[in-house]
Amino acid sequence: MLTRTVIRDCIANSDSSLDTLMKVYDRIPAGDCQRKTHCCTLLPEASFVEILAVIRCFQNMTARLKKRLYIKLVEYFFLNPVKITSCPFLEGRDCQIYPDRFFGCRAYGLWSYEYYQKLAECNREAKIQLQQQWKRLEITLPQQVVDYNLPYCREVEAEVPSTMDDRRLSDIWNTVYKLSEKFSPWHRICQQNYFGDLSFLFSTLAFGFNEALQLKYNVVKDMIAFNNRNTFKQLIENLSDFEI
Ligand code: SF4
Repeated sequence: MLTRTVIRDCIANSDSSLDTLMKVYDRIPAGDCQRKTHCCTLLPEASFVEILAVIRCFQNMTARLKKRLYIKLVEYFFLNPVKITSCPFLEGRDCQIYPDRFFGCRAYGLWSYEYYQKLAECNREAKIQLQQQWKRLEITLPQQVVDYNLPYCREVEAEVPSTMDDRRLSDIWNTVYKLSEKFSPWHRICQQNYFGDLSFLFSTLAFGFNEALQLKYNVVKDMIAFNNRNTFKQLIENLSDFEI
């Protein structure tokens, strides 16, 4: 499992990989986004190397900001089956990790409409599976959460639109992924056990892997079946400071 020690060791040995990651990101043209973070409703899934970049960013934050974002990530993990909130890194109209933001954030708005629909369809199927898993636990997720999908965005304009297409964007993603594979087995564990979800990872660091899942079940059940937020409130109030 991904423990603090594993993450610390990976970060200590990741300087050149993270430099390479930033150079790979630079191949994605800067975009002019008219909607200004309007689309930052979900925390994007990420590869392990991208997660390391964001955790390294955490290490350089003020204690207050670090604690605030940590709490928001844990809240996001527990509440995402119950309601659509926003990406935990969004504050006002600013992304708090903008220079280190994930591939998914950078590529959003640059895919063709057709390719984006394929991605959206995969996402829809994954949501339906998730809904069924919760149903087996006798919990019915709110339909608006299951149905939610980020709409295709026509408001982002790449600075150099003619040089970027689906094939080039996919190549960039493959390069990021290969870079992340160098951190195997942790890369693989991050994908298979944590689904590339930083909010899940932080919650397991706070409570333990199995305990975080059990607590999530308790929180979601209390909120959906009994409209009771007490379990969630207590859990957040007792959260200790974030340490890596
Ligand atoms: S990481 Fe930043 S850019 Fe990406 S979705 Fe979150 S707030 Fe938006």
